[in-house]
Amino acid sequence: RLVIPSTISANSTRKDHAGVMDKIINLDHGDPTMYERYWRQMGDKTTIIIPGWQSMSYFSDPTSICWFLEPEFSKEVVRLHNVVGNAVTQGRHVVVGTGSSQLILAALYALSSPHATEPISVVSAVPYYSSYPSMADFQKSGLYKWAGDAESFNKDGPYIELVTSPNNPDGYTRKSVVNRNQGLLIHDLAYYWPQYTPILFASDYDLTLFTVSKSTGHAGTRIGWALVKDPEVAKKMTKFIELNTIGVSKDSQLRAAKVLKAVSDSCEEEYSQGGEESFFKYSYKALEQRWKLLRVAVDSGGLFSLPKFSSAFCTFLNQESEIQPAFAWLKCEGDIEDCGSFLRGHKILTRSGEQFGASPKYVRISMLDTDEHFMQLIYRLTTIQK
Ligand code: PMP
Repeated sequence: RLVIPSTISANSTRKDHAGVMDKIINLDHGDPTMYERYWRQMGDKTTIIIPGWQSMSYFSDPTSICWFLEPEFSKEVVRLHNVVGNAVTQGRHVVVGTGSSQLILAALYALSSPHATEPISVVSAVPYYSSYPSMADFQKSGLYKWAGDAESFNKDGPYIELVTSPNNPDGYTRKSVVNRNQGLLIHDLAYYWPQYTPILFASDYDLTLFTVSKSTGHAGTRIGWALVKDPEVAKKMTKFIELNTIGVSKDSQLRAAKVLKAVSDSCEEEYSQGGEESFFKYSYKALEQRWKLLRVAVDSGGLFSLPKFSSAFCTFLNQESEIQPAFAWLKCEGDIEDCGSFLRGHKILTRSGEQFGASPKYVRISMLDTDEHFMQLIYRLTTIQK
C-alpha cells in the first residue's frame, strides 16, 4: 500500500480510477515544474519590475571578457557557489548563455582548433545525455564530430569528453573515462546541487557548466553559465555567443539573478536565524518523498528495476544524504525488450534508453514533473504490476 506524504497534494490522488488511467502522461522531458510550488510560496520575493527604459543597450560589462554578462547575475552566481560549496569560482571567468545548451555549443567551438586537419572527436560515456550527439553533429561542423561512447574510444590525438555528473539519465557520479593527455574536458554539472546528490567537494575543473533550469527549476528563463579557467577559451565562447545571439537576454539575467539571490538568502537565513527551510532543503525533501514512492511502486512487482545508490555525507546539508536523481533510469525486466513502447501502451511517455546510447530495455522518466503527473505515474506502475 502506498502512503502518500502530506506535501504531495491529496487532491492529486483522488481522481477517479478510469480518468487516471486514460490520460497520457508525458514524462519524456525533464521539465522542472515540480519547483513551482516552492516559488509560489515565496510570493513576491523573486518578482522583478523592469521599466521600459532599462536594459536597452546590447552591452553589460566592458570589463568582463563576457561583455554581455550582467554584473548582478555574475555576483549571484559566485555567491551561490560559495554558499553551496559545489564549485570553485576563484580564478574563473563567468560566461553566461541562453541555457547551458548554448554553452555546450560554445564550448565545442572554443575547444576545437580551426587549424586541425580533421574534426576533433566529441565523446561521452554511455548512457550519455541524449542531446549531445545531435548538438555535435547537427550542423555538420568541420571543427568537431560526435564519436560516441567514451568507454570504447581509442583514437589517438586530441578529443573532447563531455562529463556529466551526476549523470543524465542514470544519476551516477562520474569522472572522465578516456583519461589520456590531449583530452579537453567539458564538465556538465547541471545536476550537481544538494537536492539531487550529496555535495562532496567544490568542483575545480577547467570548464564547468551549470544552469538555472535544473538548480532552481527556471528552465523557461533560459539561463546557464560556464566557469572557465583559460581566458582564451572564455573569449572564444563569448565570440560564439556574439555571433549566435549577440549576447544573452538582460531581462532573463536579471530575473535569474533575483532567483539565485533568493536561493542564497534562503540558505543563509536557515542557518543563521533558524528561518524557513532553504530552497535546497525543501527540494531535497520533496525529491526524497518522490523517490521513496517510486521505489515502493517499482518493488511492488517484478517487472521493473531501478539503479541503487549509496548515501554520502553532504557538506552543504551537513548530513548523510541520498542520491535522488532528476530522472529515474528504469529497466524493464524479463521479456520486455522495448520498455518505452511497453510504457507507451500504458499511456506513459518516456525517453528510450536507445537515445542515450543504451539498451531499449531502459527508459528515462522525469522525476521533476507536477505532483499530479508524478502520482499518476506511481499509480500506474503499481497497477501494471498487479
Ligand atoms: N546538460 C544536461 C545534462 C541537461 O540535462 C540539460 C537539460 N536537460 C542541459 C544540459 C540543458 O539545459 P538548459 O539548456 O535548459 O540549461
